[in-house]
Amino acid sequence: MSQPVQPPQRLVQIEPLNKPAASSAASETPAIEIPKFTDAWVYRTKTRITFRKIASFFYARHSYGAARRWVLSSFLPDRILYRWKPYQRGGCNRCGLCCKLTFRCSFFVENEHTTACMIYTTKHATPPCVVFPIDPIDLREVQREIAPAPCPFYFEGQPEHPTTWGAVKAELRHALGKRVDKLKEAFDF
Ligand code: SF4
Ligand code: SF4
Repeated sequence: MSQPVQPPQRLVQIEPLNKPAASSAASETPAIEIPKFTDAWVYRTKTRITFRKIASFFYARHSYGAARRWVLSSFLPDRILYRWKPYQRGGCNRCGLCCKLTFRCSFFVENEHTTACMIYTTKHATPPCVVFPIDPIDLREVQREIAPAPCPFYFEGQPEHPTTWGAVKAELRHALGKRVDKLKEAFDF
């Protein structure tokens, strides 16, 4: 059984695609202005995005990959959801292409230097965006959609239970085993 993996405490720090040379005085990540927003605006926008996503099932293959990520990030316990994180390598180059698949996300902002998500580091951050990439299937799906541009994440090695179903079954077996042990203890057999 693999060790339980703690979810990341901080969101991944992503670097701009066209970051200047380190020796340059301007080697800091170029600033990007995030428009001010209210909670009510975020809720309204998320509702609108949900309807657009549902409609996109009729014309965009990516909608199925996005739905898979939403389901997994919403319902899996952390020890299953984050089991690939210790094997995750590479990083986001902040190209922003995954925020423009199917349609341009209303929370996406960009200027000539860099891109940003208005809500990624706030309480409104959407789990499917924060947990990406969940596993190789998730990563391959986005890489296929943005190709030939690269999404530089990759995995090195794999967890004890690479498939989601395998990990769920192992978790269920583990939980069942614990119950049986308790029953044995209680009835002394
Ligand atoms: S496609 Fe990959 S590299 Fe580009 S913004 Fe999304 S996660 Fe980052
Ligand atoms: S990371 Fe932010 S901008 Fe990109 S798709 Fe997710 S919510 Fe939208």
